[in-house]
Amino acid sequence: MNSHQCDVLILGGGMVGLSIAHQLLERQITSSITIIDKEPELGRHSSGRNSGVLHAGLYYKPGSIKARVCVDGARRLRAWVEERGLPINPCGKVIVPPREELDGQLEVLAERGRANGATVEFFDDQQLHELIPEARSASGRALWSPNTAVVKPLKVVQRLQQELQQQGVQLITASPGWRAQPEECSITLSDSSKLSYGHLYNCAGLQADRVAHQFGVGLNYSLLPFKGLYWQLKPDCPIQPRTNLYPVPDLDIPFLGVHFTPSAEATPLVSIGPTATPAWGRENYQGLVGIEPGMAAANLALLARQYLANRGGFRRYVHEQAFLALPPLLLKAAQELIPSVRAEHIEISQKVGIRSQLFNRLTQRLEDDFLCLPGLSSTHVLNAISPAFTASFALADLILDEATPRMDLA
Ligand SMILES: Cc1cc2nc3c(=O)[nH]c(=O)nc-3n(C[C@H](O)[C@H](O)[C@H](O)COP(=O)(O)OP(=O)(O)OC[C@H]3O[C@@H](n4cnc5c(N)ncnc54)[C@H](O)[C@@H]3O)c2cc1C
Repeated sequence: MNSHQCDVLILGGGMVGLSIAHQLLERQITSSITIIDKEPELGRHSSGRNSGVLHAGLYYKPGSIKARVCVDGARRLRAWVEERGLPINPCGKVIVPPREELDGQLEVLAERGRANGATVEFFDDQQLHELIPEARSASGRALWSPNTAVVKPLKVVQRLQQELQQQGVQLITASPGWRAQPEECSITLSDSSKLSYGHLYNCAGLQADRVAHQFGVGLNYSLLPFKGLYWQLKPDCPIQPRTNLYPVPDLDIPFLGVHFTPSAEATPLVSIGPTATPAWGRENYQGLVGIEPGMAAANLALLARQYLANRGGFRRYVHEQAFLALPPLLLKAAQELIPSVRAEHIEISQKVGIRSQLFNRLTQRLEDDFLCLPGLSSTHVLNAISPAFTASFALADLILDEATPRMDLA
């Protein structure tokens, strides 16, 4: 039986796993790093299937991990992308209240943004219309975030992978069938070879809770996946916003609401979405493919209980967001931001992603913040939902500094 050894083993080569490898090298902590991914190529899940928005840090409660890492992470990833000449659209973002009573939420977002180190400015109707002539704010006010940008997420993942491999990081792909032996600090791969590690990082995204459970970690958490479907404006549609247009979100729920996002291409394609529709499997991207009947039944019952108890404003989520995969409802949500958008202007996009949203069985609520849980010579990164892509370099630093016992990497 072959056996290998590395200082650091990373399970999952999405943006979070790659960023931990990047920061380990950057900070010269170790270059003995192996990444294992179950897929034949990287970027097949959230990191290659997201909106590509580098968030500016407006939404997150000051003091939360998201708030601590978003602004710094966005700045660093943006610089990294620009240094390499990868596509980026520095188009900013404007947030509008679709209903008058939501106007006060603009103040909350502005306060949170400023506390988190983001730049924000209030716009009046005239300034909003200079940016997007067709946009509507129910109160005549909007919040402008000049530092929001859009990248091509798959290109970022592929470039980061290439650079890490050039620097000697070992990448083992197409490897779903490993078994963990946490007490021995080793895993056995499907070809029976054994890999021993000094420290292991679980960055398995949609499977991270399952992987953590194999290490006896995070047993109170389970995945409650939500699907993000996208539509897009047809290229010949007369309305083509050149900046991100978002609604004021419901801050009790970790979804931002259907929004318009121009892509990072030279001639941007404008996506509408993503929805946050319950998914019936971790990788249930299309129709019946990837449905997990046991999980679907358990999660349906859980969603029904949340609705009846109305925990964390869950009824509002169901009424306003759960059914946005239905085209007339999606169009209605889009028209709250741009009333002149018509059914003939939009088409379904091929892009679809699934959020690795965790449910906390102790609090009976959706988990809002990132979670970094310790295990035996291991760290488990759970609930790496948005903005984990944006924040990945800074999140990796926080994980190395605060969530990794020193002795493990000595
Ligand atoms: C629809 C949608 C839109 C989003 N938009 C944005 C946005 O605009 N901006 C933003 O910042 N964030 C956004 N996000 C969030 C962002 O995509 C994620 O936070 C980020 O990609 C998480 O990265 P990750 O590395 O944790 O997960 P992933 O990218 O899912 O990577 C996990 C990896 O682990 C591998 N893996 C799984 N199980 C195993 C196993 N057992 N063994 C080995 N490998 C395994 C998978 O193959 C995968 O490659 C969005 C997410 C979605 C779903």
